[in-house]
Amino acid sequence: MLVYHLPGTFETREDHLDLLWEAGATGLEERAGLIRAYFDEETELPPLIRDGEWRLEADQDWLAEFKANLRPVQAGRVTIVPPWLRAEIPAGQVGLVIEPGMAFGTGHHATTRMAVEALSDLNLDGQTILDVGTGSGVLAIAGALLGAEYALGVDIDPITIPIAEENARDNAVPEGRTAFMVGTLGDDLPGDVVADGVFDVLVANLYAELHDLLAGAYVGHLRPGGPLILTGILTTKLPLVQDALDREGFTDVQVRTDGEWALVTARAGE
Ligand code: SAM
Repeated sequence: MLVYHLPGTFETREDHLDLLWEAGATGLEERAGLIRAYFDEETELPPLIRDGEWRLEADQDWLAEFKANLRPVQAGRVTIVPPWLRAEIPAGQVGLVIEPGMAFGTGHHATTRMAVEALSDLNLDGQTILDVGTGSGVLAIAGALLGAEYALGVDIDPITIPIAEENARDNAVPEGRTAFMVGTLGDDLPGDVVADGVFDVLVANLYAELHDLLAGAYVGHLRPGGPLILTGILTTKLPLVQDALDREGFTDVQVRTDGEWALVTARAGE
């Protein structure tokens, strides 16, 4: 891997970055005042950016490095692990195995962890769950492993569905306890288990603006008094979500935070 190291100052960095792109860099990275520009071959550079240094560096396998650093994540009664750390699930914890891949939801993001924790605070025995924006299926699968009778995960991104289905199989979730489909609220949801599309619990890890837009639809898909769990919310955007829940008659609105991320729980009006 050929990298051109160029010291940069705040005043010159924009110009330097432009010149490096124009000179044929295939990628640029900035670290502590140093610009690292990736090139396929050594190139004649314009005078303004000639005081750098060409270096040949060993290729790094970023994915392997990322995987090697993954640790188990504890979220309430659940411990989420990648397949190769199954042995590290503590006794007494519900183990949830998620293969890190193309879909969001390994458990390592604060929002996923807080949502699993909020699910684990509920008694889900025999309950039905709707997981909006299912990604890897992590929340629907957590719900099923925590005792839910049926968890439906929906996502607008078709790539997530086979991944979520495979994760459910890897966790030995009994056939029919989870289902995944491409779609969103407002689409026809499969009526074989939950005929009227009204669920006992609704969980959604999306973002504040979308929660604001979907708040009315959440009411339509949740039984009166049913728990709502919303995350993906930046703390700065909490008022948007709280106002939407007030507007739609939700009660018992509570907030948890982790760094810049918030999770809101509430109950549908009776
Ligand atoms: N549920 C997983 C978790 O908690 O880790 C994944 C959450 S990820 C932040 C959000 C997911 O929502 C993405 O997979 C995205 O494709 C999906 N999504 C975005 N907008 C959506 C919408 N309007 N309806 C359904 N899914 C949506």
